[in-house]
Amino acid sequence: MLKNLENFKDLGLSDEILLAIERSGFVEPTSIQYKTLPLILEGRDLLIEAQTGSGKTACFSWPLLQKISANKTSENNSIQALILTPTRELALQVSGALFRFGEFLSSKVSVLTIIGGESIEQQTRVLANGVDIVVATPGRLLDLIGQKVLSLREIKFLVLDEADKILDLGFAAELDLVLNEISTNRQNLFFSATYPEKVLEIAKRISADPEHLRIEDENPTVENILQRVIEVNKDNRGMLLRHLIVQEKWRNALVFVSSKTAAGNLAEKLKKMGVRAGAIHGDLSQPERNKALSDFKDKKIDFLVATDVAARGIDINKLSLVINFDLPRSPADYIHRIGRTGRAGEKGIAVTFIGHEDQEHFKLIEKRAQVSLEREQVNGFELTGEAPEAIRGQLPVKGKRKSKKDKARELAIKKT
Ligand code: AMP
Repeated sequence: MLKNLENFKDLGLSDEILLAIERSGFVEPTSIQYKTLPLILEGRDLLIEAQTGSGKTACFSWPLLQKISANKTSENNSIQALILTPTRELALQVSGALFRFGEFLSSKVSVLTIIGGESIEQQTRVLANGVDIVVATPGRLLDLIGQKVLSLREIKFLVLDEADKILDLGFAAELDLVLNEISTNRQNLFFSATYPEKVLEIAKRISADPEHLRIEDENPTVENILQRVIEVNKDNRGMLLRHLIVQEKWRNALVFVSSKTAAGNLAEKLKKMGVRAGAIHGDLSQPERNKALSDFKDKKIDFLVATDVAARGIDINKLSLVINFDLPRSPADYIHRIGRTGRAGEKGIAVTFIGHEDQEHFKLIEKRAQVSLEREQVNGFELTGEAPEAIRGQLPVKGKRKSKKDKARELAIKKT
């Protein structure tokens, strides 16, 4: 039954995990899995430079499940592994992967997700019954440590997933506190898309001598993505979107906007136009966010309108289309957004709307992303009028006080 999975087997995975891999329909390990699985199974500390979409969740999920299941004894009731993630969505996604891949283990491995916005009593009750793997965001985890309802003094594995984002979201102090609370005798797996100084500092604190691995993606995700740019006046974007949804039969798209309010407003507007849409942003409660995400995954809605922060780390299988309704703030965000589609070898399309006020900023994005994209216009929605002088180089988010990033960007625009 598992004859097609020789490549996975060669990496050292057990039959129970292979069965779950087969059920997932995977036929070949991704490059990060080839490189890291044997080392992780050997017990090495690793510092891995890898992006979302590379198959990194499986890299730590499979060995953790395999090792913890193999060493389970009735006396051992302590938490074995801690996986820290920057966002609640990513935590839920990682737990989902652990449940899925752990399905066929003969010695079951229990997993608890500890995130804000969900019942602390429920989490405490589950902990009392014994848990093998905790997947958590730093804030709520510290609450529970503070209340002494969980101890991480005996963990054997620490995984930091998307470490750069954990720090970007301002969790440095929390991370530090967590590190003080965990066992020192453990295997460390550190995943980050980028390694600026602050990430390296934390990495040094976590492991004295990790092996550094950089995953060269032979097939960079953006190469699988058709990037389209459509010029349109700002006020016409909603109508244009609806027109294209009907005309080009768009379905299953993540639509990016620049603020929480814009996310709610656009989703409402689309709904009024008869489009099945929902929103995901930081002003929604956790159950509301979970519902929006599951409605989208279950195809109950076709369009999910999101802010960058809310969309961070969300993995949605087979996303065919990403729409930049508002421009992202930075070229890195642009790549991050469009990288939501065209994953794991699939083709994807990214459509960006730009108006007069976006021209300069988009040129900067193109320059940094090293692309030069053709501008399209759609009949009936042509870009009209002229860019008022005052608007050139203006902020993409109107009426906001300039942040450091905005100022730096303006300066960069002037220099180009
Ligand atoms: P991640 O980088 O962990 O967010 O994974 C991105 C997507 O790739 C997820 O939907 C995984 O289920 C999927 N994936 C992971 N490993 C493989 C594999 N070996 N073959 C095909 N898809 C995979």
